[in-house]
Amino acid sequence: MFRLPPPSRCRLAIQAGFALFLVWVAVRFHEHVSWAMGQMSAYTPKPGAVEGFLPIAAFMSFKRLLVTGEYDPVHPAGLTIFIAIMLMAWLLRKGFCGHLCPVGLASSLLEKAGRRLGIRRQPGPRLARVLTLPKYIVLGGFVWFIGVRMGAGEIEAFMFAPYNFVADTKMLHFFMSPSTTTLAVVAGLMVGSLVMPFLWCRVLCPYGALLGLLAKVGPTAITRDATSCVGCGRCARACPAGVPVDTSTRVNAAECMGCTECVGACPVTGCLSVRTLRWRLPHWAIGVGCLALLVVLRLAAGHYGLWDATTPPEMLRRFHMMVFGMGG
Ligand code: SF4
Ligand code: SF4
Ligand code: SF4
Repeated sequence: MFRLPPPSRCRLAIQAGFALFLVWVAVRFHEHVSWAMGQMSAYTPKPGAVEGFLPIAAFMSFKRLLVTGEYDPVHPAGLTIFIAIMLMAWLLRKGFCGHLCPVGLASSLLEKAGRRLGIRRQPGPRLARVLTLPKYIVLGGFVWFIGVRMGAGEIEAFMFAPYNFVADTKMLHFFMSPSTTTLAVVAGLMVGSLVMPFLWCRVLCPYGALLGLLAKVGPTAITRDATSCVGCGRCARACPAGVPVDTSTRVNAAECMGCTECVGACPVTGCLSVRTLRWRLPHWAIGVGCLALLVVLRLAAGHYGLWDATTPPEMLRRFHMMVFGMGG
């Protein structure tokens, strides 16, 4: 009889599959940028998924959508992905972080390496709370400046500036030609993540902070049946986010990314489970649900013309020449 792999394998399969998809996106985007910079004559359309890496622009577009009712014509796919990720967080905890985000995958691998090396440590509860503060401060800054202070006119001034049209190309350059400082910071975070799992995500990522707050008011959580629990503590030790699963009956921490590692670590069948309202879900429901939500919104956006930008290719090329000084 077919036996479902444990949560960690199911999760790794989804993470690896999604990472491969992102590699394909990166290759296509590189071809697109080569055309836009005049280095290739064959035109490759920009893969919309790349706009998912522009969360600040998407946050502005989201505010504009709420204020004016108009969808972002410059990076529509970015706005669709932003909405999909927020919906995922509300419905399925931070399933995006636990299953789809490439930084989440890198953090998982580093956490496993840290375990093998015997240097993985979780901060105590009080220190862990203090360490999560920076990301909420950064998120608060974005909410204040974009959500409160910026009006639709200012957002549109940013949105229709040449820089915004090529923001994804800027980001590609940032990743492909990192400065020494960037490399040093990334190296520091990687080494730090061997010791404290998910260092960047838990301490600094404002996107993760926003998703955690949405998850807290959502219907899905890991629940523990206190009557069958034997108090072994394996669930808490397995949790990469340092959540005290063994002392909660309903795990609703903002840090919980729905990875279900705790469920896989529990020796008592059925003691820990994923629940949405009254319903018990299989452990894979969070990862598969996040993927399904993303695919459904992608298809709906494509159907309603909310995925591909309306910018004519030649205009996009002119903006590249203008911003990157290619003499156009
Ligand atoms: S916290 Fe941020 S970087 Fe980490 S997995 Fe979530 S979205 Fe990605
Ligand atoms: S509580 Fe469970 S599902 Fe949530 S982050 Fe920890 S191990 Fe993953
Ligand atoms: S791993 Fe299972 S049995 Fe052990 S403390 Fe956690 S919930 Fe209880």
